[in-house]
Amino acid sequence: MAKIQMKTPLVEMDGDEMTRILWKWIKDILILPYVDLKTEYYDLGLVHRNETDDKVTVESAEATKKYGVAVKCATITPNAARMPEYNLKEMWKSPNGTIRAILDGTVFRTPILVKGITPYIPTWTKPITIARHAYGDVYKNTEMQVKKGSKAELVVTDENGNETRQEIFNFKDTDGIIQGLHNKDNSIAGFARACLNYGLDLKQDVWFASKDTISKKYDHRFKDIFQEIYDNEYKEKYEALGIEYFYTLIDDAVARVIRSNGGYIWACKNYDGDVMSDMVSTAYGSLAMMTSVLVSPDGIYEFEAAHGTVQRHYYKHLKGETTSTNSVATIFAWSGALRKRGELDNTPDLCEFADKLEKATIQTIEEGVMTGDLYMISTLENKKKVDSEEFLKEIGKRLEAL
Ligand code: NAP
Ligand code: MG
Repeated sequence: MAKIQMKTPLVEMDGDEMTRILWKWIKDILILPYVDLKTEYYDLGLVHRNETDDKVTVESAEATKKYGVAVKCATITPNAARMPEYNLKEMWKSPNGTIRAILDGTVFRTPILVKGITPYIPTWTKPITIARHAYGDVYKNTEMQVKKGSKAELVVTDENGNETRQEIFNFKDTDGIIQGLHNKDNSIAGFARACLNYGLDLKQDVWFASKDTISKKYDHRFKDIFQEIYDNEYKEKYEALGIEYFYTLIDDAVARVIRSNGGYIWACKNYDGDVMSDMVSTAYGSLAMMTSVLVSPDGIYEFEAAHGTVQRHYYKHLKGETTSTNSVATIFAWSGALRKRGELDNTPDLCEFADKLEKATIQTIEEGVMTGDLYMISTLENKKKVDSEEFLKEIGKRLEAL
C-alpha cells in the first residue's frame, strides 16, 4: 500500500532518556510504515544542547514559527546533579521555558480517557482541559519582610514623574510581610485569545474564573479583558457552533468543576492553573495519560506529553532490564501534530491516520494490554502487563487492522 504523503514538514524536537528511546520506537513501529514522514529534525537531547550552547533550542522554536506545527519529546531541565552527569558547560535553561517565551504561547493540558481507568471523580466522563496563564502574578512578585513601626505604600510613577500613592498597611504594632504583583493587559489579552481560539478548535465551552468581587481592580481587569475580547471577536463564532464562554467566581468554578461531566476548557490565572492542573491530572489517574499543547496567539502549535523523561526507567533500561513505560501521551503528541499538519495542509489522509493511531492506542488498553502504571489502577478483569516495546507492537497490530 502506498504511504500517506505530507506536503509540509513537521518540526521534530527529539529529547532525553527513556522518552528518547520511546520516540524512536514510536516512529519505527507506528508511523514510518504508514506515513512518508517529512520532518525538520532538531536534537534537543541534553548532549546536543550542550554542544550547541543551547542554540538548537532557539533554532527549533524559530522553525516552529516558520512551519506552524511541532512535536516535542520530553527533555531534561538540568539541575546540579546533571552538571557532572552530562559534563555541562552551563546549567542550561528549561527548553520548554525557552520555546514558550519565543512562541509567547499558552499551555493546554488534556487527559486521555480509557475504559477501565475511572477518574477519582467518577462523574468526569469527558476530559477537562486546563489552560494556565503563564505570565506574572505571584510568579513575578516582589516581596519584603517589614519591621514593626513601618508603613507600606504602593507608589506608581508615571512617565512625567508624577507619583500616585496608596497605603497598603501601617505596621504600628507588629512585624509583617508585603508583596507586589503585576500583570500586563497585552499578556492577558493574548491568553484570552489563545483560550478562545482553542475553544473553537475543540468545539468546547471555555470557562474562566477569578476573584473579582474581592480584587476589584486586579482580578476585575482579567474579567473585563476576557469579556471584551469575547464580545468583539468570538461571540458570533461561538454562537454559530453552539458553544459558550462562561465567567464565574473562582470558588463557584471549583464547585461546578467537581459537579460537572467535563468536556470544556478551564482557563486559569497563573496560580490557579498551577494548583488546579495538579489536582485535575491526579484525579484522572496517570500523568502518563496527559497531553500538552502549546498554542501561540497567532495559531502556532507545539505538541508534547505532559510528563518528563522518566529517568528511573531509563537507568533500568541502561542496565539492560526491560521497562514498562507508558508511551500513550507521546503517541498522542505525534497524532495531534500530524492531524494539525493535515488540517493546515488540507491532506485528510493524514488526519484520518492520526485518528486511527489514537483509536488503536485506546483499543489496545481497553482490550486489557497495558503498561505497568495503568495495570496498577485498571479495573479491567482480563488485564495483562507488557513491556515498553511490546505495548507499541500491540498497538501496531491493531493499527494495521484499521
Ligand atoms: P517524570 O519523568 O514525569 O517521572 C516521574 C515519575 O512518574 C516516574 O518515575 C514514573 O514513576 C512516573 N511516570 C512519568 N511518566 C511515565 C510514563 N510515561 N510511564 C510510566 N511512568 C511514568 O518526572 P521526573 O522524574 O521528575 O523528571 C525526570 C526528568 O524529566 C527531569 O530531568 C526533568 O527536568 C524532566 N522533565 C521534562 C519535562 C518536559 O520536557 N516537558 C516535564 C517534566 C520533567 P515510577 O518511577 O514510580 O514508575
Ligand atoms: Mg503545580
